Amino acid sequence: MIQLTTATVIEKAINKARTVKPRVRVNCFGSYTVTNKATGATYTVTCEKRNGVRLAHCDCKAGQRGQACYHIAAAVAAHIQLASERAASH
Ligand SMILES: [Zn+2]
Repeated sequence: MIQLTTATVIEKAINKARTVKPRVRVNCFGSYTVTNKATGATYTVTCEKRNGVRLAHCDCKAGQRGQACYHIAAAVAAHIQLASERAASH
């Protein structure tokens, strides 16, 4: 689990996500499948909020070591957009 306390934690991962441009599929709110279009590799990223702290987890090697990977960066971007759309519709 990675704590998304500040944007700088995943800043490098965001930059990589912008380069790789992985495809993010929404499984459900908080669960995303991230596909590297070049290699076809898919990873599952989960996002949740616990005690006001945003947490994210990815099942790739880096994510399992608790490192912010670009899969998380890509999924979090989709998650934040989804969350703001939800907030707007209620
Ligand atoms: Zn990952």
